[in-house]
Order: sequence, then structure tokens, then C-alpha cells
Amino acid sequence: MPSIGNAQLKLLEKLCNACAVSGDEGEVRGIVLEEIKNHADDIKVDALGNILARRTGSGSKRLRVMLSAHMDEVGLMLVGDDGEGLFRFEIVGGIDVRHLPGKAVLVGKEHLPGVIGARPIHLTTAEELKHQIPLDDLRIDTGPGDSKVKPGDRAVFATRFQRNGPVIIAKALDNRLGVVTLVELIKNSPPNIDLLAAFTVQEEIGMRGAKVAAYSFNPDLGIAVDATPSYDLPDWEGEENFSYNTKLGLGPAIYIGDRDILSDPRLVRWMSDTSKAIGIPCQFRQPGSGGTDAGAIHRARAGVPSLSVSVPHRYSHTAASIARLDDWKNTFALLHAALGRLTPAILASESG
Ligand SMILES: [Zn+2]
Repeated sequence: MPSIGNAQLKLLEKLCNACAVSGDEGEVRGIVLEEIKNHADDIKVDALGNILARRTGSGSKRLRVMLSAHMDEVGLMLVGDDGEGLFRFEIVGGIDVRHLPGKAVLVGKEHLPGVIGARPIHLTTAEELKHQIPLDDLRIDTGPGDSKVKPGDRAVFATRFQRNGPVIIAKALDNRLGVVTLVELIKNSPPNIDLLAAFTVQEEIGMRGAKVAAYSFNPDLGIAVDATPSYDLPDWEGEENFSYNTKLGLGPAIYIGDRDILSDPRLVRWMSDTSKAIGIPCQFRQPGSGGTDAGAIHRARAGVPSLSVSVPHRYSHTAASIARLDDWKNTFALLHAALGRLTPAILASESG
């Protein structure tokens, strides 16, 4: 049975340490193209930068299944040069501005070091400590001297991938976990389907890549493979937190619905039935804001039955997230098994 092992962890490390803020996904795209080049029947990069890879099955009644994993990550973009190595910047995607001051960053294609300057506490008044620093007052500082960075360059948190036994800590686990999962699904695509793999761009700023990828593929059904925030810590009083959306350790998160889509109930049942049949845990993601590529795929052309399956991780869209290796392994195993059991009957069955 194919599974997530050391080779996949190495690829995840490489991809998490790569920089691919929305609209500038080239570094991740290059790594993915190299990984899949001998494993698909047809691979192309479309006008927006999506990778569209096709792997044709051999069975007689094959569904055309689009699987989507976004390559981009949230980050920063330099927008103005104040001189002396100081740059104004904007946030790309959803990042809380309170997380920014004092963080080390990597800027541009060469990953040049910088820091989001923060005033030392010795020089900060009691009054200033009460207030959040607005984005307009923050600068990325690459140090005085000849700077090779320029407006338009993207920047990411300078967090290096780490693994400690069952725990993974990294930036951009959203969605490098999904990207590696999809690479492995291409390599191990079951013969009963045509696998249409989209490694998409610009998900974090509105699912723009998935929209055109779904139009291009014109699939029978779509699945977004992503990483989803878990908020499963105890509440402030130390009581159990009942408002969690997903919990680490409970396995892949099947979306019932989110801001952009109500998942197709036939696909939800197929996924949860598969989980029972193969004895792999899964959880239903609780309602909340946020969305995935499925929000764009299901609206393509005349409509595409769609679903999201995600790996839970804590501290999404911050400098460092935490995921459990087992949840990732189980997400891959569930998707692989579900695809292997997929027949056209699933879409013929009554919905609801
Ligand atoms: Zn995501």
C-alpha cells in the first residue's frame, strides 16, 4: 500500500521551506513539475500558472475526477522603497497584522533575509504598549547598504521546517500538506478513474486558479485537498473547548460546508463510508469562515459536485503551524482508498 513515509516528509520539508506567496508560485511549481514529470500522461502549465496534470485510467466507465491542491501561501509583498533598506509592504491573503512586528522574513526569489522592525521595549512607552501597530507604520528592514530586493518582491516568515517525532512544525503547511498528498495520489492513481490534478495558484486571495482549472478540466466531480485550521485548545477557564472546528489527532477533516460551498452530500457519504470501511478515522469540519478551492470548482461551467478533505493544523496563516504526522498519513490513505472505490453509481445515487 502506498503511504506517507520519509520520502514524502522530505518533499514536504522542501516545499514548506520554499516561498510561493500568491501570484508568485514559481518556486513550488518548479519542485512539483520535477516530482510528477514521469507520472502523468499529460502535464501543462496554464496561463495563470496552474499545473494541470492528467493521468488516464484503464477501466471502462471512468469518472473524471479533479483533485486540486493550491500551491500558494499567504505572505507579504513589498510595495515601496523608503531607502536605507526599508520597504513598505502589504499583506497578501489572510494574516493578522498583530503577528507581524519583530518577525524575521525572507524576501524575493533569493530568500534574502530581512526583519519586520519592532521598537525595543526599552524605547517603548507604557501608552504605546497598549496599542496595536498599524500596517502603515511597519517596514521590512533588509539593513542599510545595497539592497537587492525591490517592490513587487514577496516575503514570507523565515520559519524552517522541523519534525519532532509525530509532530511537524513549519510555515505554509497550508497547503504544502495538500500539494504533497496530491503528488502521491498522481503517482498512485487507481485505474478506475481519470485523475485530473490541478496544482493551483492564488487560492489565498480568492480561489482564482481553481476557477480556470475547473473550466479547463470540465470534470465529473471535484475534491479540494487542503489543510484546515484546528482550534482545539482548552478555553480560557481551562474547560473543554466545544467550539473547535477540527481537532488534531482525529484524522482527515471532511467539509460539510464552508463560506463558499455546501459539499455534495453524495461525496460526503462516499468519503465517510470509505473511512468506516477501511478503519481510518475522520472528522467533520465544524462550520466557520474560510474556504477552499472547492468553492470555485463547484461553480465551474454547469456545476461540479465537489467536496474538501483537509489535514487539520494549528495556527494556520501565522509564522509557524503545527500538524500531526498521523493526520496527514490518514488523509492520504482515506483519499487513496476512496478514489479506488469510486464508480459512476455514486453520482447516480439520490442526493441529500
Ligand atoms: Zn489552504
